[in-house]
Amino acid sequence: MQVTRYIERHGFRRWYERQLIESHAYLALGFVALILLLSGMELLRDAEAGIRYAVVLSTAAGGMLVVVAWRRFGVLLARAEHFGEAATCPQCNAWGKFRVIAQEVSSVEDPPEAGRPHWLQVRCKQCEARWKLQ
Ligand SMILES: [Zn+2]
Repeated sequence: MQVTRYIERHGFRRWYERQLIESHAYLALGFVALILLLSGMELLRDAEAGIRYAVVLSTAAGGMLVVVAWRRFGVLLARAEHFGEAATCPQCNAWGKFRVIAQEVSSVEDPPEAGRPHWLQVRCKQCEARWKLQ
């Protein structure tokens, strides 16, 4: 779900919380994939020729998963922290109480690694002040 739509439906606080949970789930997945990678490398030494191909495939999959999971963890956490730091209204100091009125152009097909949108234009629900999260 796009960032703007999610924030409109559930609020910024819930989006922020979800981003932290999702990014740390990728971190945990990265550790599991790292264990798969290391155990596959260990098995390669003793594997017979017949299962060596399967071990190489699982090791390579583990390696790729480590890279993807680590990258997604970093991007999701960085964007959540970046928006979270700027989510305080400059006039009334309310944190996370705003409506999104514009965002950087992005599509559903953008991978999470792209980190889009990089900015949001928002309006405070309490005092109608406008500012940009970037
Ligand atoms: Zn305000």
